[in-house]
Amino acid sequence: CGIVGILGTHEVAPTLVEALRRLEYRGYDSAGIATVNEGKLDRRRAVGKLVNLSDLLVHEPLAGKAGIGHTRWATHGAPTVGNAHPHRAGTVAVVHNGIIENFRELRAEAATHGRKPETETDTETIAMLAAQYMDQGDDPVTAARKTIARLDGAFALVFLFDGHDDLMIAARKGSPLAIGHGKGEMYVGSDAIALAPLTDRITYLEEGDWAVVTRAGVEIRDEHGNLANRPVKTIRMDA
Ligand code: GLU
Repeated sequence: CGIVGILGTHEVAPTLVEALRRLEYRGYDSAGIATVNEGKLDRRRAVGKLVNLSDLLVHEPLAGKAGIGHTRWATHGAPTVGNAHPHRAGTVAVVHNGIIENFRELRAEAATHGRKPETETDTETIAMLAAQYMDQGDDPVTAARKTIARLDGAFALVFLFDGHDDLMIAARKGSPLAIGHGKGEMYVGSDAIALAPLTDRITYLEEGDWAVVTRAGVEIRDEHGNLANRPVKTIRMDA
């Protein structure tokens, strides 16, 4: 339901939760964040209000300067901790808004590669498919590109990868997603309002776009794989 991502210069966990708080108005049943710290991907998730996630983070902190976060409005699978995003398979973590219509086929395909689902969600199959491509030797960008091309349905999603603390890959089809430009930092949000305290410089992804985000900037491609020149807009937000 709500997505945030940060490639930061400081610890990102508190900022991710703060950004998710700005998306609370959309409604949600659970929430979670994942970070990469010293190359290691890890995550924390909680059912219910964001305060449950921030309480969990007090007891089980999550370090790292790169991270993604999500507030979930369950469509596939009950609102449990296990079904909360970010989802993970192998070295891949993903947060997702929307619905993957062909997740059953994708899940069956992953099963033939020996991957068992750990959740009831459609979202997990995105991570499973990307992990499968990486197992076959693809780098994260190639794995993400191939995965995105196979997804039917409506989605906004952001990938984060174990071993990569300067990379997020974002994609938009049927659900909005914005890239935020900071000073030595880059952001992703399902709504620019989530990023309002961080930056007022926003690039909106268009339908079918996918973006490779590093702290140095963003490279956006359209659905045909061609480099796309999307404007950076300075937006005014009274927030
Ligand atoms: N379909 C996904 C799920 O149920 C994402 C729902 C959402 O947009 O929050 O986990």
